[in-house]
Amino acid sequence: MPSCPLCRHADFLQVLHHPKAMTSANRLYETRDEALRAPAGVLHILFCRACGFVFNAAFDVSLVPYGDHYENNQSNSGLFLAHMKDMASRVRAAIGDAPLRAVEIGCGQGHFLRLLGETSACGEDLVAGFDPSYTGADTPQSHIYKEFFGKETLERLSFRPNAVVSRHVIEHIQNPPDLLNAVKDALALAPEARVFFETPCIDWIFRNNAFWDLCYEHCSYFTAETLAYAFRHAGFSPLNVSSVFGGQYLWIEAAVAPRAENQTSAPNEENVRAFSAAVTAHLEKWRAALSALSARGEKVAVWGASTKGATFVQETDPEAAFVHCLIDINPLKQNRHIPITGHRVAEWQTALADGVSTIVLTNPNYTDEIKSMLGDRARNISFLSL
Ligand SMILES: [Zn+2]
Repeated sequence: MPSCPLCRHADFLQVLHHPKAMTSANRLYETRDEALRAPAGVLHILFCRACGFVFNAAFDVSLVPYGDHYENNQSNSGLFLAHMKDMASRVRAAIGDAPLRAVEIGCGQGHFLRLLGETSACGEDLVAGFDPSYTGADTPQSHIYKEFFGKETLERLSFRPNAVVSRHVIEHIQNPPDLLNAVKDALALAPEARVFFETPCIDWIFRNNAFWDLCYEHCSYFTAETLAYAFRHAGFSPLNVSSVFGGQYLWIEAAVAPRAENQTSAPNEENVRAFSAAVTAHLEKWRAALSALSARGEKVAVWGASTKGATFVQETDPEAAFVHCLIDINPLKQNRHIPITGHRVAEWQTALADGVSTIVLTNPNYTDEIKSMLGDRARNISFLSL
């Protein structure tokens, strides 16, 4: 029986279970055979009834294909870029008039560090990032260390940080207190530093029945309460936790503080039960619909080979019996295959030439854009929305 990584209790509700889940939807395969042999993991998502933390109790980090083929850059979306700029301004505002001395843990390719730099006109900032996956060179005002962050690395830094940022990292950590304790220990050298973390909000996932957001790479999921609880537990004082990016993410600002008495309020189980019931019903409805379409001789494609589309076919068509292909406009995804189920990703022209007559849209926001792209040919297609 596992125990909760945050509070060590062992009283759980099961949120979701999948015995053979893809370990990354960001990694597609050249051939169907390769895709069928892709690493599979167990999704065993539990909700801790004592503190409200949600985690994958069967997570095995060695199965996640981080590395050269791992592409997870969202900054090419205008909405997401605006959000990142907004968060960079918040960091700047919290530090006040002093020059920024910022460290980012898990900085990817340094995009956010550059945005932080752009918030200042004085040119006296110093920023550094830590990320083993960084592939670029140093820029004049920032150094990016291709290694994990820790106390020793902070000792080698040429400046004393007044801000420590970590965006979309903690959800990848199996035991979040390890990361928070490492940051706290390192900040013995800079106890005045402010700490800023961003991570998905599990309440948003539950409220929106966003089952595809419970993906294998993310093993730790927080509410505003559990995030604050984890920070207090590691010796921080949360100054505020806010809901950002339309409620999808949480943003916490914290200061180093003495370890104090730490309790959580009773977590809300209703959200969890409602989510599990709604997702089960939703997937059953879709399995029946896909099977009925197939029986009528309709050829079905799913538009969007991102995590949502890949998870949808994994859940509703594991044997690739009903969905002919996924459609994606990204040429890097086309003619490749979804892990485990082996569904092919095609450009839309190919899918229509194959005789696809029904398209399931994973993101209804793009319906008009897709219909105008298809022009006259959209008239012979039935569109359904997830
Ligand atoms: Zn717990």
